[in-house]
Order: sequence, then structure tokens, then C-alpha cells
Amino acid sequence: MEQMAPSPAVKQLLEEVKRNISWEGFPADKLEKALAEALSALDSVKLHFLENCVGCAACAPACPYYYVSEKYGPVEKAELARYMYRKEGTILGKLLGPLLNAKKPQSEKDLDEIVEAVYRCTNCGACYVSCPFGIDSGLIIKGILGSIATKTGRAPTLIAVFDVIERKKLFLEIPSFMYIWNEVMKKAEQALGKPLPFDKKGAEYFLLVNMADAMFYPDAVIGAMRALDRAGLDWTLPSKPLAFRPPIAAVIGLQKQAKEMIKILDEDISKYEPKNVVLLDGGFVYPWLRFQMPKALGRRPSYRVLHIVELFEKLIKEGKLKLRQTDDKVTWHDPCQLARRGGVTEEPNFVLSAASKGFRKLPHHGAESYCCGGGGGIGCMNMEMLEQMGKLLGVSSKDLVASDKELEFIKKTAEHWSIAVKRKIDDVKKSGAEIVVTACPVCMHSIAGGSQLYGLKIQVRHIAAYIGEHIE
Ligand code: SF4
Ligand code: SF4
Repeated sequence: MEQMAPSPAVKQLLEEVKRNISWEGFPADKLEKALAEALSALDSVKLHFLENCVGCAACAPACPYYYVSEKYGPVEKAELARYMYRKEGTILGKLLGPLLNAKKPQSEKDLDEIVEAVYRCTNCGACYVSCPFGIDSGLIIKGILGSIATKTGRAPTLIAVFDVIERKKLFLEIPSFMYIWNEVMKKAEQALGKPLPFDKKGAEYFLLVNMADAMFYPDAVIGAMRALDRAGLDWTLPSKPLAFRPPIAAVIGLQKQAKEMIKILDEDISKYEPKNVVLLDGGFVYPWLRFQMPKALGRRPSYRVLHIVELFEKLIKEGKLKLRQTDDKVTWHDPCQLARRGGVTEEPNFVLSAASKGFRKLPHHGAESYCCGGGGGIGCMNMEMLEQMGKLLGVSSKDLVASDKELEFIKKTAEHWSIAVKRKIDDVKKSGAEIVVTACPVCMHSIAGGSQLYGLKIQVRHIAAYIGEHIE
């Protein structure tokens, strides 16, 4: 596809994003406001996370970024939030200040340190499950520090662009995005050999294909449709994407905006009156739609949310989906959000065992799985992603960074990712697998990039693409 010129919508979007983002300076007034908002949103659970860490460091080896530097250990990063909480939220901290490590950022350097902590955390939850006190450092880092970083202007420009594209539904107006969507739908129609069942009301299963699904793993979108069709289900899908990768705002710590996006998405989905909503994305989209949605709406949604791998398991057990079993040396990488934060750990093993006699678990799997190092927006912070997205938006990659300082930060983040991903690649190597199957675009990109970097010859596939090819 030829590079498109930027549409007026894209030009306006970039101007708007750049007005809010500045990687230089120290906006004291914005910081005060962001800090007050973060503290007013504290509940008893977050207070426990802030108050009860004993500094034992049991969580440190769980963190992929601890292997880049000890200063990126979970407790060191979360401590930056505790400094501010003690200073503003506790009487002793107010009285004794630095004696209790109670302080607020005072300079550009302090703010840069916060941003670095935020983008050296994937919110993988590995520290949470290894802490004897159940302290979720990731939630503090991405939630509290992330919102402060973004509200003081330090968000990766590209992710802020995606956020606005999603919340304003601009993907519908960006020609290259819609071209990709239409091409995927055309190919799916050819693969099924019949018209796709778009926009049906009251279907049993609503396949929620988002814009990012079509962009990053089109063969998975087609594989999922083949499976639903061959299983003889009553299913539908939207003729146009309802969201980009909902809710992108959560990735940069904008909780309020993320909840608003979830409400809009629920309204859109509800018009179809489905009984079940099936997701392809096993990244943050899963816990948000499965667990955060009732909280955001103030009620349970009128449909059940499940991941395609959960549906595959059910269909295979019911005998509705028959697979041709191969001898592939295949393994499953648990996306942190689907496994550790979502509890979906056994279903993929069952499904992949049905697809191949050569299935093997990774040495570290399920809740103990190693993070790929790319979550929390880190996977978007590299030159390749900037160039690809620049082409699609019809702008230069330089237009997708706020300044040289942000560019330097992106390059350093990519270097650190290359260290963080190594543990995962070594684990895959030990398994002897030749195919890694997973369900999150960031995991796929990270593991494929890591394996290239460390000379491991493997294929990385989405589970819906892999299963789609094994249907009898
Ligand atoms: S959530 Fe994951 S990446 Fe973030 S601090 Fe904890 S272990 Fe490290
Ligand atoms: S978060 Fe938990 S495991 Fe980590 S240092 Fe604090 S108490 Fe120890």
C-alpha cells in the first residue's frame, strides 16, 4: 500500500496531542494538580500498597526490568510514589519530611526519574504475585506515577496519538486504517467462502474485532472467523471497528478517560444485544473488558466477555470444533494480562495439546510466566514502530515525537527492552519449541523481535491464527 498523505483529521490530531505533551521543563502547577488528583483517587487497596511495603525485595527477581538495573526493581520504582504520598498524605511525612523519605518532585530531573520508572514497568503483575504482602507495585507505578507523568506532559507521543484516535473514533476517518480493515474483511470472506455475518442483532457470539487486531494479526482475525463458522455458531461481528485497542488511555495512566471509553464501547456493543463478546486481544484489553468494565459502568454488562482461547476450549470439549492434530514443537507464552491478571492459564494448554502432540509448556508458565518486557507502552517505543505508524498516518516518524529528548528516551527504552526480553527468549530456547503461540500483539512483537536479536529461529503466532489452520 502506498504511503498516504496526512488527512486533515491527522494534522488536527497531532496539533492537539502536541499541545499537551512536553518532555522538557518542570510544570509545577500541573504537577500539584496531578498529585492532588492521584491522592484523591486512593482507596483502601491502594493505601495498603502504599503503606505496607517492608522493602524485603522478594519481588525484585520477578521483574523483567530488574535485570536492566537494580534501580528498576519494583520497590525502587513504586517508592517514587510513596515519597509523594508520605509528603502529601501523612501527618508524620508532612512534619518530618526527608527524614521519612517524604518529598515531592522539585525539578525536571525528578520528573524525568518518574517517567523512567513508568516506562520501565510493563504492569505484568509478577511483583504482585511474588510479594508476601500482596503489594501490587505495578498498579502504583502505572496507575499513580503514570497518571502524574502524563498529566505533566510526559507521555509517549505515539501512545497519546493512539489514545485520541480511539476516543474520538478517528480510525474511521484515517484512510490507511480503513483500507487495512476492509482488506482483512475481504480476505476473511474469501477464506470462509461466503458473506460475513456483519452487524446481526441478538447473536450468541459477538466477535469484537478491534482496529489493532486487524492491523497486527489479520490471520488471527480470519482464523477466529473460520473457527466460529465451522463450529456452526450463531455469531456476528461489527462491519466497522468500534475501538482501536480499548482502552488505550489506561496505558498512559488516564483512568478517567479509560473508563469513559469503556462506557462508549459498552453502548456500541449493547446495540447488537449479544449474549457473549469474544476478544482476540489477551493484553490489557482482556482485564479491562472482563473485570474493570462492571466498575466503570456501575453495573454488570448485559453480555459475558470471554477470550477466544476460552471459547476454543469450550468448543473442543463440546466436540463442536475438531482439530487436525500435528507434531509441531509448539509452546504457549502466557500474556501477563490474560494469565496473571486474568486467570486464563489452563485453557491455552488444553487447546494447544489438542492441536499438537508436540505441545510443551515453557519452563516458566501460567502465573509464573516470564513477562516479554514489552507491555505498558514499552513495545511502542522503538524506531520501527514510529516509522510504521508514521507511514500509515502519512507523517514523518519525527512528527510522532515531541522533541529530541523524547527521541533519546525512546532509544534508551528500546535498548533496555532488549535486555528485559532476554529472560523470555532463554526460556523459549530451553523449551525446544519452534513455534510460540500467544494472544497479545505486544507479546508477539516483543518475542519475535527478541528471538531475532538473540538468534533463535522460531515462528510467533496468535492462537486464533494457529487454531484456524488446524481446523479439520
Ligand atoms: S509490574 Fe512487572 S514490570 Fe512492573 S514492577 Fe512489577 S514485575 Fe516489574
Ligand atoms: S512490594 Fe512486597 S515483596 Fe516487594 S519489597 Fe515490598 S513487601 Fe517486599
